Amino acid sequence: MLSYQVSLMPFTTFGVNAVTQIFYQASDVQDMIDFLKSNQEPYVVLGGGSNILFVREKVSCVVQMCNKEIRIIQEDENTLWIEVGAGVVWDDLVLHTVQHGWYGLENLSAIPGHVGASPVQNIGAYGVEAASCIHSIQFIDRETLQVLEIGKLECEFSYRDSIFKNRLKDKTIITKVVFELHKTGELNLSYGMVKEEFTKLKDNHEAGKTDLMLLREAVIRIRESKLPDPKVLGNVGSYFKNPIISQKQAGAIQKLFPQAPVFSGTTDELKKISAAWLIEQVGMKGYRMARVGVHNKQALVLVNHGGATAGEILALENLIILNVESKFGVHLSAEVNKY
Ligand code: FAD
Ligand code: NAP
Repeated sequence: MLSYQVSLMPFTTFGVNAVTQIFYQASDVQDMIDFLKSNQEPYVVLGGGSNILFVREKVSCVVQMCNKEIRIIQEDENTLWIEVGAGVVWDDLVLHTVQHGWYGLENLSAIPGHVGASPVQNIGAYGVEAASCIHSIQFIDRETLQVLEIGKLECEFSYRDSIFKNRLKDKTIITKVVFELHKTGELNLSYGMVKEEFTKLKDNHEAGKTDLMLLREAVIRIRESKLPDPKVLGNVGSYFKNPIISQKQAGAIQKLFPQAPVFSGTTDELKKISAAWLIEQVGMKGYRMARVGVHNKQALVLVNHGGATAGEILALENLIILNVESKFGVHLSAEVNKY
């Protein structure tokens, strides 16, 4: 569907205004290719708009995949492979898998956005990443308009990162994702709050609810208690990534601040430090600067108190980075995608 002069405010969760001259919503892969053959404008690929900040008020062109099919393409006794359209709402997919008793995505319940964006930053929560279930990805090469497929290993997944944020940044339109899920499995209760909430629910649950359903419910409850609802208070979830720092730097911080939340990284040499804690330590949890602020329950979330501009958000971002860097020597990087 082709539209002109469209406000992107309802298509993004930050609630910042920007207008696109052209907006194309493609029903399937061929539809998108046909549009791109005739389009001369530079364009931005939009999913559910929950991790994006338009820094200019006017944008030439925005495209969005709206293909919504979920189908099993292969299965055996223990495993199944499902192909999912990029336009499927991520949490609809998680609900579908939990209802069918398929293990893998349950800890990623209630993450906003669409399936097509899930590999981009390798979405993660409560000890699970999308990469753990992604088998392969189909995408349109934006330069050649060819439809290509890559396997999980080629996606270079790491902590909130992938090839789509690096070498292939803004070079692809992800059209389908194949997930590998399991018919039986172990629950991941490695995050303390999840285990606590799950145990509470399990002790008092109604008959007929499976462990997968209870875990999903536990995750949703925790998220609702801590994270602002974008419909009420504009935000993009974590505005910054948790910094990955050397073991030496983590040790130095812990010497001065023994309570610093430091977690293991991908190697023994690397550690992950909580960005929310760093922001809290510089006194900015709940901080407000005109129409933008740091959420009072979760310091990693920047919020739009109403009518904020991208400029105001960027000013707050810079102030936080400066304060954290001067106190801890740790550089915070934004997780949100800016255009
Ligand atoms: P968009 O915001 O539309 O786009 C994000 C980026 O992906 C952009 O660069 C865009 O160009 C690109 N992109 C989108 N679709 C495609 C496509 N089809 N092909 C190629 N590129 C594409 N994230 C987590 O990891 N874990 C969380 O727990 C989490 N919680 C959140 C909670 C809240 C309240 C909010 C608002 C956000 C949260 N997020 C979380 C961030 C966000 O939900 C994810 O990053 C999500 O995957 C973004 O999806 P989207 O469809 O909204 O992408
Ligand atoms: P939290 O549970 O208060 O934890 C704070 C930070 O400490 C998290 O960022 C988490 O890292 C880390 N952490 C906590 N327990 C850990 C453990 N057992 N092992 C390793 N790391 C641990 O965080 P929260 O803000 O309420 O978020 C809960 C989960 O949802 C987190 O996984 C978070 O990443 C995810 N989330 C992401 C976004 C986003 O936009 N990216 C927004 C909201 C929530 P990790 O972030 O690596 O898990």
